[in-house]
Amino acid sequence: MKVVAITGPRKTGVFDIEKPVPGPGQVLIRIHACALCTFEQRVFTQVTKKALPYVGGHECAGVIEELGPGVDAAAWPLGRKVAVRVLQSCGTCYYCRHGQENLCTGAYAKSAASAGSLNPNGLGEYLAVNLDQVYPLADDTPYEQAVFVEPFACVLNSIERGQIELGDDVAVIGGGIMGMLHVIASKMSGARVILSEPDPNRAEMARRYGADVVLNPKEEDVVARVKELTGGMGANVVFNTTPFAALAAQAVAMTAPLGRCVMYSSLHPDEPIQVSPNAIHNTEVVITGSKSPSVKSFDTSARILSKGIVDLRPLLTESYEKEDADTAFERACSMDTYRVMIKF
Ligand SMILES: [Zn+2]
Ligand SMILES: [Zn+2]
Repeated sequence: MKVVAITGPRKTGVFDIEKPVPGPGQVLIRIHACALCTFEQRVFTQVTKKALPYVGGHECAGVIEELGPGVDAAAWPLGRKVAVRVLQSCGTCYYCRHGQENLCTGAYAKSAASAGSLNPNGLGEYLAVNLDQVYPLADDTPYEQAVFVEPFACVLNSIERGQIELGDDVAVIGGGIMGMLHVIASKMSGARVILSEPDPNRAEMARRYGADVVLNPKEEDVVARVKELTGGMGANVVFNTTPFAALAAQAVAMTAPLGRCVMYSSLHPDEPIQVSPNAIHNTEVVITGSKSPSVKSFDTSARILSKGIVDLRPLLTESYEKEDADTAFERACSMDTYRVMIKF
């Protein structure tokens, strides 16, 4: 089988490796599409250092091709379209047992162990996975939609952290792919959504997905504008989807008393910001974060996208064959794409 691996700064290659055999209780997935997440983009540009070659890919979908011993053929029919939760959780740590598998203390140890080798991952033709990693989709779910199950699941975990109530004001900082998915999910949650994004094309896309107000941070003081729009309070829920410390500080500043401020994006570089403990004391504001999807948010995402409740295909900007992975990665890193996928 073929895999696409990052081999150096802004370089990839296609490699032949042995096709995995599904073990007891596992299925073999024929991967047909995998989108390039910000994480893989950072490995490609070497912002994030990983042992190379690195086969990434965790936003993937395909069909069940083979059943391992003991798998119920009626429940897991061959040819069934599925999304795969590549990131494994241990199932036994405190966080797994509290429904927060995204914080599993065992998962990353496992994925780190496979770095620097050509172990199969989402960016390849096949993956043998446990049944709890497999999320069935309707047969007519296009791959351009199916590859969003993982990123949308990450955002749904963030939405849960934000605890949006009907009629709330939600501010989203950044209108890239993750900002856009936050706009969409916040609208689905019954909020008025204010987006801060300077790029006119992204602003237009956000309006198409129902953003109520789009502010241009290059032209206006967005903290002041959010307060103005909310009768001086600030937004009930704020999501920072950008990697910039200054904007993380802005997110805190525009959160209403009793509101929730969610640090969705990691910061690069990780510069500390100043937060006044007195302001937290006086406002009971909650500053929290959100990382990766939980099992529940993954399932919810698969259900929403499989049913076509929201159409994310406009956010799949381009798709490439595996031989053109260099171009795919370059385009994925570009400001004028949302998501780019590789077909297998
Ligand atoms: Zn991702
Ligand atoms: Zn765990």
